[in-house]
Amino acid sequence: MKKVVKFGGSSLANADQFRKVGSIIREDESRRYVVPSAPGKRFSHDTKVTDMLYACYESAVKGADFTEQLDQIKERYQEIIDGLNLTFSLDEDFEKIRKDFTRGAGEDYAASRGEFLNGKIMAAYLDYAFVDAADAVRFNDDGSFNADMTNELLSDILENKHRAVIPGFYGAKESGEVVTFSRGGSDVTGSLVALAVGADLYENWTDVSGFLIADPRIVKNPKSIETITYKELRELSYMGASVLHEDAIFPVRKAGIPINIRNTNRPQDKGTLIVESTCRRPKYTITGIAGTDGFAAVTVEKAMMNSEIGFCRKVLQVFEENGVSIEHMPSGIDTMSIFVNKDTFEDKEQKILSDINKTVAPDHIELESDLALIAVVGRGMKSTRGTAGRIFSALAHAHINVKMIDQGSSELNIIIGVRHEDFKDAIRALYEIFVLTQI
Ligand code: ASP
Repeated sequence: MKKVVKFGGSSLANADQFRKVGSIIREDESRRYVVPSAPGKRFSHDTKVTDMLYACYESAVKGADFTEQLDQIKERYQEIIDGLNLTFSLDEDFEKIRKDFTRGAGEDYAASRGEFLNGKIMAAYLDYAFVDAADAVRFNDDGSFNADMTNELLSDILENKHRAVIPGFYGAKESGEVVTFSRGGSDVTGSLVALAVGADLYENWTDVSGFLIADPRIVKNPKSIETITYKELRELSYMGASVLHEDAIFPVRKAGIPINIRNTNRPQDKGTLIVESTCRRPKYTITGIAGTDGFAAVTVEKAMMNSEIGFCRKVLQVFEENGVSIEHMPSGIDTMSIFVNKDTFEDKEQKILSDINKTVAPDHIELESDLALIAVVGRGMKSTRGTAGRIFSALAHAHINVKMIDQGSSELNIIIGVRHEDFKDAIRALYEIFVLTQI
C-alpha cells in the first residue's frame, strides 16, 4: 500500500500543527510521499506566508527596502523550527532568496519559496528525502504545464526514494525558471505525485472533515459527504464548493486513484472519499446541494419559433459574439430562456438585446435579474422515483416559486432556478426534506 499525503497551509501553520501532521504520517507507514503547502493562517486575521512573499517581492521590484518583510517571513519559519526543536538553519536559503529578490527572480519564484522552505523543514522533521519540485514538475517555455514530462521526471526521481517530501504549488521550465500553478495549487502537485508513484490513495489533509452536503453558512451543522464520485463533485464544484483545486482531479481520476479529504485537526473523522464509481449506496438520495447567486435570464418569445430552422443557433450566436457564456437554456414551444451570469451580462445588455432583435425579430424579450441556481446532485437519484416530486413539494411548502427546472439526462442532478430572496430558504427546505426527514 502506497499513499501520497498532501497537507494544506492551515495544517502546517505552526509547530503544533506540524506535530499533528508528524503523528498522522508516522501512524501509517504507507504514507510515503508528502506534499506540503506553505504555512497558512494561524488565526483568522493572520497572513499566509504565500501572501507575505508576494508582498515582499512587490517591494523588491519597486526597489524599496524589503529587509523587514523578509525577516518577518523568516520568523514564521524560525518559530516552526524552534517549536519542533530542530537543529536546522535556513540562514543560507534566506540569503539566497534575498539576492534572488534583488535581481528580480520573478513573482512565481518568490511565491514558490513558501512551499520550498516548508518542504525542507518537513523533510528534516520526518527524516524523509527532499525533492525540489523545480527538478520534477515541468512547465513548457510558454508557461503551460507539461503533464507527460512531469510524470516521467517524477516517476524517475521517486522510483528509488522510499520516502520523500515534494513541495507543492510550483515547478520549473527546462531553463530552471520557476513557475507556479494557480492559488491552492499544492493540491495539483499531490495529484501528480500520486499518479507518478502509482499510489493506492491520495490523502488531501485540510481543516475540514471533507465535503459537506450543504453550505454551513446557510444550513446549520450540515452532515458531511462520505463518498462522492468525480462526476458528482464536478456538478457541485461548478456551483461553488471549493475544498479542492479543480485541476487536482484529472491526473488521479485518469489513473483510478481515489482522493480522501481528511481533517488534520480531527484525524478520527473518515472525511470524504472521492472515487470514479462506487456501488456504495449513498446514505441519502442526494449527495449534495450547492447553489450560486447572481444570474439573469433573457427570455426570447416568438410565435412558431419551434418551426423556424436555426432560431436557437442565431440567438446563441449573439451571446457568443458578445463573449457571454451561457449557463442554462430551458425552453418552451414559443420561448427560449437563456441564463447568464448577471455581472458579465449587464455590461453588454443593450448590445445583446439589439443584436437579438436584429437577428431573429422576436415578438417579445423579457429580462429578469437577481436569480439563483441550485443544483441538487446525487447518483442515488437515478434509481429513486419521485425525487423531482419531493423537490417541488418541499419548495412549495416553503412558499418558494420555481423559475426554472433543468434535469440532465444522466439523472445525476436537477437544477432549479429561484429568485435571489428565496435562495437560502430553498437550500434549507431541500436539505430538510432529503437529509433531516430522510424519507
Ligand atoms: N501556498 C499556495 C497558496 O496559498 C498554494 C497552496 O497552498 O496550495 O495558494
